[in-house]
Amino acid sequence: MAQIDLEQKILDKNDRLAQENHELLKEKQVYTVDLLASPGAGKTSVILATIHALGDRYKIAVIEGDIASDVDAVAIKEEGIPAVQINTGGACHLEADMVKRALDVLDLDEIDLIFIENVGNLICPTDFYLGEDKKIMILSVPEGDDKPLKYPGIFQVSQAIILNKTDTLPAFDFSTDAFTDSIKQLNPTAPYFPLSSTTGDGVDAWVEWLADQIEEAKAQ
Ligand code: MG
Ligand code: ZN
Repeated sequence: MAQIDLEQKILDKNDRLAQENHELLKEKQVYTVDLLASPGAGKTSVILATIHALGDRYKIAVIEGDIASDVDAVAIKEEGIPAVQINTGGACHLEADMVKRALDVLDLDEIDLIFIENVGNLICPTDFYLGEDKKIMILSVPEGDDKPLKYPGIFQVSQAIILNKTDTLPAFDFSTDAFTDSIKQLNPTAPYFPLSSTTGDGVDAWVEWLADQIEEAKAQ
């Protein structure tokens, strides 16, 4: 049974294209993160905070997935960072062929790290492998500590979990104990990074961990 599922997966067109993306990125020694979150969780601001912390060490590029508009790509480009906008034309997640087209326009020889900012959505981006090294999710404090109970899938597939906007904890009825208990049950091995991209609190731990992942991948 498991073998049939595996064959079906291998034949799946998205996964095949994603694997091609992965092989290209590996060949070019580009580390790639697929960033998942709801709209407004602060994906772009976490990317910007990461650029500010690691921009001297690594050449970074961003692929921005949005249903419409290019406001996030514009904000990234203002930092002098290459950014490619993908408008999904209504689709609520990115697929591997969209990412492939974005990779075609980036100079991968000049890049060490790519953030793929997926469409803001806690559900279906979970199911699509894009060729990334890691899927990482961001939840923000105003969204509530019960999100792992309501959207377990994304917490299970994510290989690291960021809690953003911790500076707003005093204003919200958010139990960090309840939240961390839930994520430890769903995904005991995922590293957890509470941080505020506004104040910078906790950003160091996140970027140091990310830099370690990049170095480990390079050493392989
Ligand atoms: Mg954004
Ligand atoms: Zn979707």
